[in-house]
Amino acid sequence: MSGRVLHTVAEMVEAMGAAVRGTPRDVTGISIDSRTLSPGDAFFAITGENSDGHAYVEKALGAGAALCVVARDRADAFPDDAPLLVVDDVLAALSGVARAARARSTAQIIAVTGSVGKTTTKEALRIALGADGETHASAASYNNHWGVPLSLARFPREARYGVFEIGMNHPGEITPLVQLVRPHVAIVTTVEPVHIAQFASIEEIADAKAEIFDGVEPGGAAVLNLDNPLFDRLKAAAEARGISRIVSFGEAEGADVRLKDAALKSYCSVAVADVMGTPVTFKVSMPGRHIVQNMLAVLAAAKLAGADMALAALALSHLKPPPGRGVPVQLQLKGGQATLLDESYNANPASMRAALDVLSRTPVGSRGRHIAVLGDMLELGPDGEAHHAALAEAIVAAKIDQVYCCGPQMHALWQALPSDRRGGYAIHATHLEPMVAAAIRAGDTLMVKGSNGSRMGPLVKKLAERF
Ligand code: ATP
Ligand code: MG
Repeated sequence: MSGRVLHTVAEMVEAMGAAVRGTPRDVTGISIDSRTLSPGDAFFAITGENSDGHAYVEKALGAGAALCVVARDRADAFPDDAPLLVVDDVLAALSGVARAARARSTAQIIAVTGSVGKTTTKEALRIALGADGETHASAASYNNHWGVPLSLARFPREARYGVFEIGMNHPGEITPLVQLVRPHVAIVTTVEPVHIAQFASIEEIADAKAEIFDGVEPGGAAVLNLDNPLFDRLKAAAEARGISRIVSFGEAEGADVRLKDAALKSYCSVAVADVMGTPVTFKVSMPGRHIVQNMLAVLAAAKLAGADMALAALALSHLKPPPGRGVPVQLQLKGGQATLLDESYNANPASMRAALDVLSRTPVGSRGRHIAVLGDMLELGPDGEAHHAALAEAIVAAKIDQVYCCGPQMHALWQALPSDRRGGYAIHATHLEPMVAAAIRAGDTLMVKGSNGSRMGPLVKKLAERF
């Protein structure tokens, strides 16, 4: 953590309307978790579904917190001399600090939403814009009602660029978040059936994503995926909110940022894009056509934000997959190695197809096979089993040799698979793991993917420990 002051006590008090107790210090960072708190941070005692931050105030102070923000009805529990800012509502106070951080900023701000690819796009923008000037971006997938205010409250006053991920599980969620962020550029990566259980149709999902236009600054731009069937709907929604600058990206004819050529390798891609009339060549060290598509949105936003395109394009080669999103793991077997692509972080139909495509492009050794180890894709609503069964076609098209499945919904895929592709099925990931372990041979390439709740992460860990 830098020693640079992020917010003075006076700024925090004004932003939150807080009462001061003890002797708080100016803060160099913001934390809502005492385990990861850095000395000098302000600790916000957020009350969530499973935990109450007030239980960790003492620990936060012990770890060097400059001050703690607590609720008025809980403040009596702490010593009189503890450095506290006392407020009515801690989460609202965090939003107040976020609003103040945004108000003082002269940075170019980019907001990223979409059904998949938000974090990939956000991390690529962190790198691309970071090559040109100080860039602040949301941590991890901090994209919800606490993640967005937290990310914005951490926005340094000196930053030249800000990149914020905004997500949603239901309608109405994005509007208040984007109104805090007030971006100059709003990206919708793509619209796919994800979290569809909460929605009647894909059009409703598009409309919920379109809420991102609610907070765009006057004169700002929308960056939209021309290859996505919902493009026209999103464009109309942006225009209805008074956004006249629409920048399209994709492979389709007429895209403002258009892919001209792409060499898709197993661990990277090299591509040429026409970025609003300028040819830009870039290499990205994550495999897959879907990643290249996200990079088109990145280049569009970087151009709109006024960044140096050559620096941005060169910097993209440093983008690496985050944990659980395609990181290759080498397994040591008798007679050689096998490669495991760890995609265990999450899954939905769009990202599953993208990962199967990457698997099919990843080389195998002599006599090696392409093996998919798949867990349930959750939150798909009543059509869940159909979405699972429909993967059979993609698996055959991608020439995947063997498929191992677990989870109640994956049974639908299991039944839909041609019998020569069936490796094994189990209800639980823990029971599937020994079957996969017994089957792997030197030269194989495996891809393991499922929703977080389907427990594929522990399966990867177990395999990595075994070999
Ligand atoms: P979350 O909602 O979990 O925060 P996200 O929108 O931030 O997800 P990423 O973390 O970037 O998305 O990617 C999630 C998964 O989707 C990864 O498996 C990734 O490979 C895949 N993915 C990323 N971009 C695309 C895309 N444009 N099309 C299809 N799949 C994609
Ligand atoms: Mg994310």
